[in-house]
Amino acid sequence: METPEQTGGTAAAMPTGRYLAGRKALVTGAASGIGRACAVALARAGAHVHVVDRAAEAAKEAAEEVGGTAHVVDLSDPAAVDALPDDADIVVNNAGIQHVAPIHDFPVERFALIQRVMVEAPFRIVRRSLPHMYGGGWGRIVNISSVHGLRASPFKAAYVAAKHALEGFSKVAALEGAPHGVTSNCINPGYVRTPLVEHQVASQAAAHGIPAEDVVTKIMLDRTAVKRLIEPEEVAEAALYLCGPHTGYVTGVSLPLDGGWTAH
Ligand code: NAD
Repeated sequence: METPEQTGGTAAAMPTGRYLAGRKALVTGAASGIGRACAVALARAGAHVHVVDRAAEAAKEAAEEVGGTAHVVDLSDPAAVDALPDDADIVVNNAGIQHVAPIHDFPVERFALIQRVMVEAPFRIVRRSLPHMYGGGWGRIVNISSVHGLRASPFKAAYVAAKHALEGFSKVAALEGAPHGVTSNCINPGYVRTPLVEHQVASQAAAHGIPAEDVVTKIMLDRTAVKRLIEPEEVAEAALYLCGPHTGYVTGVSLPLDGGWTAH
């Protein structure tokens, strides 16, 4: 497949149509939220999507929706991760979990689990995928980081550490991949309207005895200038952009979709 990068073309318009036809994408955590939206967007552009998730039923549903292949895998299991397909042209490292506790009370096992799922699994997947990408002279690594890859919040030691580690890994992959047509970037959303966050809104509303809307505007969006959650589809459009044509020079960057949070 020829892309404008390979042909030297310089079309200015945003691409439309099935410009990822013939490409294979592997998206982790693709059964829900941001990952699912990424799977839908990549499939819409023509990619065959490997839907990777531990949630079996939801993964199968998502794979059916996008005409892709479900892989029911727990990413904390290194052997299972190493059995995933190794011929993806696009890898979206998205699966993530949160645990909120002060450092002195933080369960050690939980910290280690979060690093395995959110740092070691992306490393293992990219490590195994790069030979195929290098062979084809084209690859796209999209790491769904967070504003917490750039900033810290109290009580999220494991998550903030993992996202900062992912940022570093992404930059190394960018440097090594550049001679082979492989880019690696991070996307850094603020709070996204996903099941993960909707659950937090409900529980915080109950805990504080305030309406759910106040949890969003007064607590979660305290440092965000745009006073709304971002939708998963908006994050997916950024991921799709990074996988599209005209992006071969965009590498090693972190793209905040944070409504102005990091402008402070
Ligand atoms: P989500 O909970 O809606 O979806 C996460 C998916 O990952 C789920 O389907 C879950 O089953 C899967 N998953 C979790 N652990 C797994 C494991 N061990 N093995 C396999 N699958 C596993 O979450 P989301 O909000 O869509 O978050 C996706 C990513 O975006 C995460 O990395 C998260 O840190 C990041 N992010 C989310 C927000 C937000 O506000 N929701 C903000 C910034 C960054």
